[in-house]
Amino acid sequence: MECCLSLYIHVPFCAGRCGYCDFYSTPVGSFSGFREIRERFVERVLADVRSELEKVDFVPTIYVGGGTPSVLGESLVPLLEGLGRLLPNEPLEFTVEANPESADEIFFRTCRSNNVTRVSLGVQTLFEKSRKAVNRLGNVASVLESLDRAERFFPHAFSVDLIAGLPFQDAAIMRSDVEQVLAFEPAHVSLYSLTLTEGTHLEKNMRKNAASFQKIDDLWLLGKDLLEQAGYTAYEVSNFSLKGKESLHNKRYWSMENWAGMGPSASGTMIDDETGTGIRLTVKSDATLYLKKTEQDVEYLDKDTLIKESLFMGFRSLDGPDEALFLKRFRKPITTLIPRTIAMWQDKGLFEQNRTALTKEGLLFLNRFLAEVFEEISG
Ligand code: SF4
Repeated sequence: MECCLSLYIHVPFCAGRCGYCDFYSTPVGSFSGFREIRERFVERVLADVRSELEKVDFVPTIYVGGGTPSVLGESLVPLLEGLGRLLPNEPLEFTVEANPESADEIFFRTCRSNNVTRVSLGVQTLFEKSRKAVNRLGNVASVLESLDRAERFFPHAFSVDLIAGLPFQDAAIMRSDVEQVLAFEPAHVSLYSLTLTEGTHLEKNMRKNAASFQKIDDLWLLGKDLLEQAGYTAYEVSNFSLKGKESLHNKRYWSMENWAGMGPSASGTMIDDETGTGIRLTVKSDATLYLKKTEQDVEYLDKDTLIKESLFMGFRSLDGPDEALFLKRFRKPITTLIPRTIAMWQDKGLFEQNRTALTKEGLLFLNRFLAEVFEEISG
């Protein structure tokens, strides 16, 4: 029996479409009869969860993301109640994502009464002009109202997403975004740099102005400094939390512990600790198809691939890769795989002396570090 499996559920619907988004999601307005669609979606997800959990005796974490789970409206009730019936245990962490325009009182009440432990709110910015430039729905007043609800229903148990580098955002706006959000005392903040998806309207516009890219980095660094000054620890490249409030679910991804994905475009990875090999299943990114049946792409993962992925994911976190799990799966300590890179980065003061992890400052150079890690492994 598989003992431990986390669950990720991808809700493939949003109220609109943001200019920078590359997640799989369809605006609800493009379906006729969305009420029926969302009901059928919930039935399909629950059927998949039921069959996935047949061989599982413990679900440590569950994350309902997307897309925008809060657009499920009344259908969130059967989804959460159904999960409650199917799960073999009460998860240690149960997160639901929401966007302010659909995170009303009923949404929070429904989460609260169905054992959700954590809500993640997509704020991104509180500057109206920047919101409009990337088609974020809802206005600043509605975002503030949803933050207020989050604080009331999930005190010290909600997370906020912010983006650095949006059009029209400058240092004063970045500062104001962080300060306004922190006034609601979230337990956790994810601060992302704006990522421009090639070929999008937004990308073409931003690339016209070469200075934008330096600006994105500067704004992110400013946001990071403000969060750290306020007592939030950067425990991963884009994630900050108060002590003890790190996302357990995401930590499991970074440690490459097993999880299953349900819903269009969701993927899950399961690794056999005995052989160090695994399998990745990705549900086809097609919401209409999903309502009829679940079709998945299958990828077999050999040991070398998983060693690289484990290092790639593990070094993102301030704790570094899970060394005991790595040793168990691959029968090699990390230190013997990349001794040269570790020594060089220790000399620069960017790698911990007593742990297999980058220092806080070293994390800022993660990409360069990983390039050297892979060169050493391949060389
Ligand atoms: S709300 Fe999130 S998932 Fe939906 S379009 Fe915007 S960025 Fe993408």
